[in-house]
Amino acid sequence: MSGGAGCVIVGGGPAGMVLGLLLARRGVRVQVLERHADFERDFRGDTIHPSTMEMLDRIGAAEQLHQLRHGKLRAMRFVTPQKTWRLVQLDHLKTRFPYIMIAPQARFLEFLHERARRYAHFSLVFDASVQELIEEDGVVKGVRYEDAQGQRHDVRATLTVAADGRSSRLGRLAGLEPVPQAPEMDVLWLRFPKKIGDLPDEGALYSGDGKFMVVFDREKEWQAGYVIAKGGYKRLREEGIAQLQRHVARLVPWLADRVGALDKLRAGGPIEEADLAEVQRRREPVVAQIQRVQAAIQHRVVGESLQHQRPFAPPLPIRLLLATPFLRDIPARMVAFGPHPYRLERADEHPPA
Ligand SMILES: Cc1cc2nc3c(=O)[nH]c(=O)nc-3n(C[C@H](O)[C@H](O)[C@H](O)COP(=O)(O)OP(=O)(O)OC[C@H]3O[C@@H](n4cnc5c(N)ncnc54)[C@H](O)[C@@H]3O)c2cc1C
Repeated sequence: MSGGAGCVIVGGGPAGMVLGLLLARRGVRVQVLERHADFERDFRGDTIHPSTMEMLDRIGAAEQLHQLRHGKLRAMRFVTPQKTWRLVQLDHLKTRFPYIMIAPQARFLEFLHERARRYAHFSLVFDASVQELIEEDGVVKGVRYEDAQGQRHDVRATLTVAADGRSSRLGRLAGLEPVPQAPEMDVLWLRFPKKIGDLPDEGALYSGDGKFMVVFDREKEWQAGYVIAKGGYKRLREEGIAQLQRHVARLVPWLADRVGALDKLRAGGPIEEADLAEVQRRREPVVAQIQRVQAAIQHRVVGESLQHQRPFAPPLPIRLLLATPFLRDIPARMVAFGPHPYRLERADEHPPA
């Protein structure tokens, strides 16, 4: 891009891509620079609001947008153990789109990209990590970015837009002071597998015991935001994963059967001794029980036969057990499944690559 023309947008998130599309549509030469290699990010805003849909409708893109696989949130429910309120009822709004559309942000960004690149004067560069501003006489004239091979490139433009997210590097470079906010809470994002029979409108804001959790319907899973007091994460960690599982199960009872999916190892750790101790706490009694039974069998049944070279005969209590119709399956079940079988849920399965 040569000096004096066009716009360079740093950041290919929703802000950068929507702006890029709108400017390109107006004939402005636009270059978007995105430091990642694609749009795939986990756990980001999957909600597309009526204002965005109306805007896309005005440029003739709403129908194509609706071809994305999506869900529709028509009311926001607030669920407490006592009562459910429909707090925000979008379906009464006078708009063509009286709902919030739920679609993975990556798909939405791909859609915007597909629309924008219909204009020859639009371009998006992936793997372009902006490092510096180009300044001349105190005026920003573009940016300098590094590509995946570490090569540096200059992009000159009339207008430079920092759409690089909440911890904007460009903002810092330009000396812009972020306005600090002090929200009272932090949110711990969790994922739970979907199961057959889950209803689409089970996503809601749940409250009980002074705790809150918001649950969103993502295409293949439930995304849940467990709300904690600002700075409360350390305490939550100290309490351990089992305590969090109990809180979640109490707050959202229909998730109780899958709180075991809060598995740190799959999420990339870190794993601490306390986590391993928790696994040990759950499984050790079962293993010990099985080992006791094995030892008893080895000692009293097999061992005695071997030692005294007597023909094998099960002790009387076992013979009685085996002769009783309701009880005779117990040994087989113990051998087959152990005292407390661990049930793997099909829905826990991570799809193969
Ligand atoms: C955990 C989490 C959950 C969220 N859940 C929701 C939700 O459910 N619903 C909702 O509506 N919103 C949600 N949000 C907020 C949502 O992510 C933001 O509203 C939205 O992504 C902001 O868009 P943006 O384009 O301003 O910034 P971003 O989406 O952050 O995009 C900025 C882009 O700039 C790129 N970038 C950064 N630095 C550089 C650089 N130096 N050079 C080049 N590129 C750079 C980044 O890679 C990124 O792609 C969530 C956010 C988080 C963190």
